[in-house]
Amino acid sequence: MIRIAGLSKVYATASGQEITALSNVDLDIADGEFVTVVGPSGCGKTTLLKILAGVMRRSTGSVTMNGVPVEKPSREVGVVFQQPILLPWRTVLSNMLLPVELQHRDRQAHLGRARRYLSLAGLEGFEDKYPHELSGGMQQRVGIGRALVHDPAVLLMDEPFGALDAMTRDTMNIELLRIWDESRKTVVLITHSIAEAVLLADRVIVMSPRPGRIVDIVEVDLPRPRTLDMINSEPFGRYVKAIRRHFGGAHA
Ligand code: ADP
Ligand code: MG
Repeated sequence: MIRIAGLSKVYATASGQEITALSNVDLDIADGEFVTVVGPSGCGKTTLLKILAGVMRRSTGSVTMNGVPVEKPSREVGVVFQQPILLPWRTVLSNMLLPVELQHRDRQAHLGRARRYLSLAGLEGFEDKYPHELSGGMQQRVGIGRALVHDPAVLLMDEPFGALDAMTRDTMNIELLRIWDESRKTVVLITHSIAEAVLLADRVIVMSPRPGRIVDIVEVDLPRPRTLDMINSEPFGRYVKAIRRHFGGAHA
């Protein structure tokens, strides 16, 4: 589904320096796979996601989706950023339908899907509320619904739950898994939480500090549906340990 080969990204800073954010990344992601990416801050995770989303140019290498080079944003891709960035003057429902409008699709035809995702995200009854009337977790769920409303085949998420408290985050993870289970999209989710990466993924991609390279790929062979109880299981602990050993200092 997604093929990344020899991908590098070098930023030129204002002072004329060059910063290598990604170095020679190779990765194939299968249709319907749930992949998580972990790595220390500044290792190029957001850069990788932006390149996959077609909103940033790469320096070298190639990225294709279904054989087509990624050069610009695609309708087949939904993106969730760290902050949901909802439009304050629009209701929940009308925020969710924004991509439908921007892509000049039939709003009426997508209303049903929007309502379904509202209910899947536990937001039934909130469709006419405004963003400021929602908690942070609810706003983030609207952002996820918005990324899904036009039924993209691929969902890219950049630390979508990073700003949430631990309990809300647990709930959101389980909800996300439920939505994924229903829709079987290809998901790439970036996180700095090793536990979150293991709980969600079929495979965890472990990145090195900058310049970001893939240092390990850990296949997570825990049964699905995943539950929060699994976090305390022995195999879960082994996965976490296997990933953590790649990070020195505070992570070790
Ligand atoms: P992460 O998401 O893993 O924290 P980023 O992809 O945001 O990392 O950034 C990777 C590296 O690239 C960092 O060192 C960051 O400072 C640098 N960087 C990111 N964006 C830019 C930019 N637009 N110009 C210059 N350097 C950048
Ligand atoms: Mg980032």
